[in-house]
Amino acid sequence: MIGPMRDRREFLKSGLMFCGCALASGVRAQTSRRALTIGGKKALTVDLHGHCFVGDDWPLIQDRPQAKELERIVSAPYFTALSGVEERIAEMDRQGIDVQAVSLYVGHYHYWAEPELAEKLVRIQNQKLAELCATHPGRLVGLGAVSLHLPELAARQMTEALREHKFPGFMITGSVEGEEISAPRFDPFWRKAEELGVVIFIHPRGFGDGDRRFEGGGWLTNTVGNPLETTLALSHMIFDGFLDRFPRLKIVAAHGGGYLPSYVGRSDNCHAVDPRCRQMKKKPSQYLRELYFDTLVYSSEGLRHLIDVVGADRIVMGTDYPFPVASREPLDDVLSVPGLTDAEKEAILGATAARLLKL
Ligand SMILES: [Zn+2]
Repeated sequence: MIGPMRDRREFLKSGLMFCGCALASGVRAQTSRRALTIGGKKALTVDLHGHCFVGDDWPLIQDRPQAKELERIVSAPYFTALSGVEERIAEMDRQGIDVQAVSLYVGHYHYWAEPELAEKLVRIQNQKLAELCATHPGRLVGLGAVSLHLPELAARQMTEALREHKFPGFMITGSVEGEEISAPRFDPFWRKAEELGVVIFIHPRGFGDGDRRFEGGGWLTNTVGNPLETTLALSHMIFDGFLDRFPRLKIVAAHGGGYLPSYVGRSDNCHAVDPRCRQMKKKPSQYLRELYFDTLVYSSEGLRHLIDVVGADRIVMGTDYPFPVASREPLDDVLSVPGLTDAEKEAILGATAARLLKL
């Protein structure tokens, strides 16, 4: 059983599989399953934004000082939910989610790793992610990991994981050690993602660490830093011509795309007055309509505005399970938005994600 912290640390060191700890919480998948009907018909519900922890990469990195972030998560109160599967399924049943796309906790992304180690880490992470998803076929699908700091390797990892594990998409972070993910050196990765037609889920990993303006209460590297990182990543993709170079990518931005969709008028204004934007084919707000965004904006007014800016056909449900920032009632987040048609509700709650993930 995983319960006391000491046992959790042993779990990390032994690299045991997630299944062992899943039973520890006493939560079973016997919670009655909420079934959503829209217009009298059962509607498919898909959560594109859930995370997991896999302990098996730990033996490869435990002696590295950079691995401390991964060690800290083990003592978090939600660790059992993060590393388990039955509690995950029980919560999906309670919430009414049919399918969850599971990506790794961002602490698993080790951009400091040299090529040989990076390759081993991602191979074991993707293998364990595939095993987690295989425990409940049809309920869990994997968004694999890649070593984005090594773009050629990342392109190969995507190809291999698609072939071996059938992952319909991959999660990347919003920057790579301070470098923009839209910088030309990452083109080999993006070219491959476009060619394979996989979903690329852009997820921040905190921002402002070490900057004293982000210190103090409010958990600002997450609360403010995360949406800020996504805002910057998407802004560079728009203003630097990246989206003109890769128009067929299927990009999903976490947390409703950060602050950008709620204040894109300022970007449109800059586009109109900054001579350096003359080469752009469209206004920033028009580029937003080529991307996808999750629903995690924490208010029905905010979600209504996001829908107005990017279109109901560009939004997928996301919970951020099982972190403290996660939505507890993701279906109701959508159903409470005023003025949505049944078709729009169906699209946001599952149909669009199902199409992107080829479910
Ligand atoms: Zn997340």
